[in-house]
Amino acid sequence: MATKILIPTPLRPFTEKLDAVEVDGQTVGELLQGLTTRYGGLKQHLYNGDGRLRSFVNVYVNDEDIRYLQKEATPLKSGDVVSIIPSVAGGVGVEAPAAPALSADEVRRYSRHLILPEVGMEGQKKLKAAKVLCIGAGGLGSPAAMYLAAAGVGTIGLVDFDVVDLSNLQRQLLHGTPDVGRSKLASATDRIRSLNPNVRVVAHEVALSSSNALELFRPYDVILDGTDNFPTRYLVNDACVLLGKPNAYGSIFRFEGQASVFATKGGPCYRCLYPEPPPPGLVPSCAEAGVLGVLPGIIGTIQATEAIKLILGNGEPLIGRFLIYDALRMRFRELKLRRDPDCPVCGDHPTLHALIDYEQFCGVPSGVTSPVGSATSESGDSSASATDMTPRELKAALDRGDKLVIVDVREPQEWQIARIDGAVLIPLGEVPQRYGEIDKNQLVVCQCRSGVRSAKAASFLRSVGFERVVNLTGGILRWSDEVDPTQPKY
Ligand code: ZN
Repeated sequence: MATKILIPTPLRPFTEKLDAVEVDGQTVGELLQGLTTRYGGLKQHLYNGDGRLRSFVNVYVNDEDIRYLQKEATPLKSGDVVSIIPSVAGGVGVEAPAAPALSADEVRRYSRHLILPEVGMEGQKKLKAAKVLCIGAGGLGSPAAMYLAAAGVGTIGLVDFDVVDLSNLQRQLLHGTPDVGRSKLASATDRIRSLNPNVRVVAHEVALSSSNALELFRPYDVILDGTDNFPTRYLVNDACVLLGKPNAYGSIFRFEGQASVFATKGGPCYRCLYPEPPPPGLVPSCAEAGVLGVLPGIIGTIQATEAIKLILGNGEPLIGRFLIYDALRMRFRELKLRRDPDCPVCGDHPTLHALIDYEQFCGVPSGVTSPVGSATSESGDSSASATDMTPRELKAALDRGDKLVIVDVREPQEWQIARIDGAVLIPLGEVPQRYGEIDKNQLVVCQCRSGVRSAKAASFLRSVGFERVVNLTGGILRWSDEVDPTQPKY
């Protein structure tokens, strides 16, 4: 009778990269003998010199540890699935320095960790010695940094240079209502210190860029990617691969989240998954598309879990596995990921040996994107030019009775919140099908929330022959600031 054995990522090099193998056997012992006969290289990893299963290799039949069944004599029945879970699987790339001792206060604080065999005193000291860098103190960085701090990670670095906005509070729990207007890093530092004064918080209030990323990342053991834009995501990935730092990756979009662990030794990286970024404008940001507030709470917490496992060197990390979470359906799915031997950064013959210009790589025209490193910056104003119009100029034109049409390219839900009188609503995604509805003979003023989407719409309209198109700089947010304060900002 053949039984399926699931092979963990670190052992796949010995099973011709297979993640599952079918072997005959009546008991777990027979099965493993059959496995190591077929794949000789596995033997030394599973068994020690006197033929006993190594103590750091756990074998499960379905969801039960064989240590709690009949060990290697555990019988197998049809349909059983056997998993090999080596505890060393997590020991990737993180080399903890000499572990510092815990104070009496820390022993009490971490007592629920200390009684877990998988953490214990040794693991807690590793956490204390560890340094984790969170890119972004926003939606993903909030739960991640708070759980890492609560868990006793000794040094937490934060990279961000944004300011707390009222619209952040729906999901960014590092910040509270009194923090609106403060620097995110100041707010985050206060929050983390009140949670756990034993943690050293290092605030990097800078824009992450190709010129500073390597230097910034170098002192850290694990990088936690909480960015919301593609240039920064590729920058973080490449810097992690070049430095050999594991990247606890997460991203969120409306109701769906993703998580994985990239850039470990032999494991895949973000470029193996997505060698090239999507064309600019195809994937909207959270500011444009919206995001369920609790979603980053779940994904950021998964990232923190992975960071902690990497530090402890315990468990089976999300290496080679791409976790997809759908909050609406309340479903987790897992996809397999493999390192691409042709990957330009982590492949067998990499062509990328230094950081590049990621704005250019992602095809983002300057001035129409969130600045790299402002992981949670959701504004992004387009720069002034002859094709721009300010809200005050628009107000003056309307007052003069100029012939013009305002095309609002936001989504209907946003239209419900605030709008400019007389504007027509054509969401950005529908502009290519519906631009025929717009009168070419009038001046066309494209408008959105902050001026980013409308800049895209304006350039599209010009490309299809509209000659008089301007973009309302700062969008309805600035319109509310400068012209009509009765329109709520969101
Ligand atoms: Zn790669």
